[in-house]
Amino acid sequence: LTQRLSKVVKTITGQARITESNTQEMLREVRIALLEADVAIPVVRDLIKRIKEKALGEEVVGSLTPGQALVGIVHKELTEVIGGSDTPQQRELNLATQPPAVLLLAGLQGAGKTTTAGKLGRWLVKEKKKKVLAVSTDVYRPAAIEQLKTVSAQADIDFFPSQPNEKPLDIAERALDYAKRHFYDVLIVDTAGRLAIDEQMMNEVSELEKNLHPIETLFVVDAMVGQDAINTAKAFGEKLPLTGIILTKVDGDSRGGAALSVRFVTGKPIKFIGVGEKLTGFQRFEPEAMAGRILGMGDIVSLVEDVKNAVDVQKAQKFAEKIKKGDAFDLEDFKEQIAQVKNLGSFSSLIEKLPAQFAQAAGSIDDAQANKMVSRTEGIINSMTPKERRKPEIIKASRKRRIAAGAGVSVQEVNKLLKQFEQSRDMMKMMKKGGMAKMMRAFKS
Ligand code: GDP
Ligand code: MG
Repeated sequence: LTQRLSKVVKTITGQARITESNTQEMLREVRIALLEADVAIPVVRDLIKRIKEKALGEEVVGSLTPGQALVGIVHKELTEVIGGSDTPQQRELNLATQPPAVLLLAGLQGAGKTTTAGKLGRWLVKEKKKKVLAVSTDVYRPAAIEQLKTVSAQADIDFFPSQPNEKPLDIAERALDYAKRHFYDVLIVDTAGRLAIDEQMMNEVSELEKNLHPIETLFVVDAMVGQDAINTAKAFGEKLPLTGIILTKVDGDSRGGAALSVRFVTGKPIKFIGVGEKLTGFQRFEPEAMAGRILGMGDIVSLVEDVKNAVDVQKAQKFAEKIKKGDAFDLEDFKEQIAQVKNLGSFSSLIEKLPAQFAQAAGSIDDAQANKMVSRTEGIINSMTPKERRKPEIIKASRKRRIAAGAGVSVQEVNKLLKQFEQSRDMMKMMKKGGMAKMMRAFKS
């Protein structure tokens, strides 16, 4: 998917604004990208429509190419649809009721309900200092009840045992009564799931919901399920008054496209994500991060922001004019270029923001090393006279020795810098003569 998006970026590089014609092709790529991330088809259709409306005619600001601008719009819309428009209060777990607050977990078998009961319980104990009781109504699988007992012990919450042949609702009601009498803050109700939507299962959960009056009815869904998510979510959403979603297995290879579909179909906020089998693998849901994951682009948007902020726009313009007028590119200009690079801050933090594949290609960068190089280059230029900076060709052996001594470096390093400067100047000349296209070719060769 990242490849697709970088293709989008490339396709429209060099075009000044986003137009009807270049948008068509880009949107086609974005559509395929979303489908590859397992976002359900109706959701993709809606998203593309939104993106198109936002993108058309959008002025491309500053140093962004239209491709980068479009990726920005895609990311923003995705974030919005996935829950960026929910307020933090809407994403917060609601406990505002006469205790015990009943939290009902519903979802297919294997979605991660029992694991999530433990994770949520642990979170309530650790983060909210609550007294928590858990109960299982999964009477069809004794092992599932045992599983909740084990998980509860690990989570430091209490477990309410059931009796043989007890019905789900009876167990839950006894547990609620017990929780009231023993002043629990929260009762977590784990339910039985099926491998697919099933009338009996639905009626059972629905009956629990009607009688227990949970303050939260949470739909637990596996992020790996892909296109199926939309049907499951629809079925649960129609049968139960859901208050939120917990997305599990976000640690897997899935891009998390299911998150988008489930949020879209139910209209309910995603409140938490499960990341791993351990009980500590439980986090609040962050729409922006999830949108980035779906797009597979790391923090590329914030990277674009950083670059925009760091490069001094006025200086860059002055510089561009200078080149246009044909003024010679000298060592002063070179120094300015380097200073701008330095402005970008730590090199490794820039690399970290790139998508994983690029970051790997770039390898690890030693910040200290890179900064030392930049400082050294500046030091050498500082040791030159203004005349030498303007006319570097007068720098011969004796001047080199003087400069090297002044900057505390070897003559070879002065030579290296002059060589780099010459390459930069050639590039500038090419830019003046043949424009960007020629320069890009030179880069590639
Ligand atoms: P239930 O049938 O809905 O109660 O699902 P379980 O809680 O029993 O989970 C089914 C399987 O998924 C178990 O093997 C869990 O360890 C695993 N699982 C649950 N949540 C996560 C998660 O966030 N990440 C990973 N990797 N595995 C999970
Ligand atoms: Mg279970």
